[in-house]
Amino acid sequence: MTTHREPLASVLETIGETPLVSLHAAPDDVPVYAKLESFNPGASIKDRIGKYMLEQMLAEGTLSPGGTVIEPTAGNTGIGIAVAAGRLDLEAVFVVPERFSVEKQQLMRALGATVVNTPSEDGMGGAIDRAHELAEELDDAVVPQQFKNPLNVEAHYETTAPEIYDALDGEVGALVAGCGTAGTLMGMARYGRELHADTYVVAVEPEGSLYSTLQGRDVEEGEYKTEGIGTHDPATNELFDADLVDDVVQVADRDTHAEMQRLAREEGQLVASSAAANSVVAQQVAWEIRDDEIDAPFDTVATVFPDSSERYLSKGVYDDYEQWEG
Ligand code: PMP
Repeated sequence: MTTHREPLASVLETIGETPLVSLHAAPDDVPVYAKLESFNPGASIKDRIGKYMLEQMLAEGTLSPGGTVIEPTAGNTGIGIAVAAGRLDLEAVFVVPERFSVEKQQLMRALGATVVNTPSEDGMGGAIDRAHELAEELDDAVVPQQFKNPLNVEAHYETTAPEIYDALDGEVGALVAGCGTAGTLMGMARYGRELHADTYVVAVEPEGSLYSTLQGRDVEEGEYKTEGIGTHDPATNELFDADLVDDVVQVADRDTHAEMQRLAREEGQLVASSAAANSVVAQQVAWEIRDDEIDAPFDTVATVFPDSSERYLSKGVYDDYEQWEG
């Protein structure tokens, strides 16, 4: 329950401690809880890693005040880093493939950051290469590299996970989360498995993404509209630890889109596509626990809703499926 608080010294203190809300669509005897990450000041789960990575790098001396943070990012991580950079006397530069949400790029600029676009066809790989080139041109510049940086996992191990477990008195049977960098799921899974070794852990990805190949599945690569999760090259997703994952579940864009609309209409939740994909799978897992098809230490499922649909309205997320652009 959110409590009224003392006045705070900085917006960074409002990051985390987001609400955990149960889903009406879940079975009564196996509740599903979603952590509403749009309640963070930059309106996504990535505020957590922005704050955590920069504060840790400043404390470790890998970054000094007045220095520059350069990150290849599709958006939310940029906003999270920019929120923190503004308060920590750091410059922020983001390298963003063109096709990603225009709204997010506008917000990064509003927060004082510089945005450098790379061609969409070069994908995140092109953005990563450009970020390193830029870092070499500057004196005191660091590329945190959320896709490789253990601080990304640690941020969720130290904040997201304990908040979920505290709210549910430690009784979490299954953890479900879509994987982009996999920082969220790995942090939650490490924490959960330390408490209960048989915690059931499920990674979510859109159809067309290739995390499933890490479980030896022969899935087809393809384009998808769901934003923020999935991979075309799992070898570059170094944080994903297959030993911490019981199952990787794919969701079709069409099902994600229908769930985004259902969540808004029936649950009053204005959440984006990755949240909807998590919601679909979390409910599926809850029914499977109920029907004894999955063994979990408790009859509860926890997931995250990483951000809000408002950031994607121009992409037609609430229009007909055919109008939703990727
Ligand atoms: N959803 C959204 C909207 C995101 O921006 C991200 C981060 N790419 C994720 C989910 C996935 O989070 P993670 O990188 O921790 O796997």
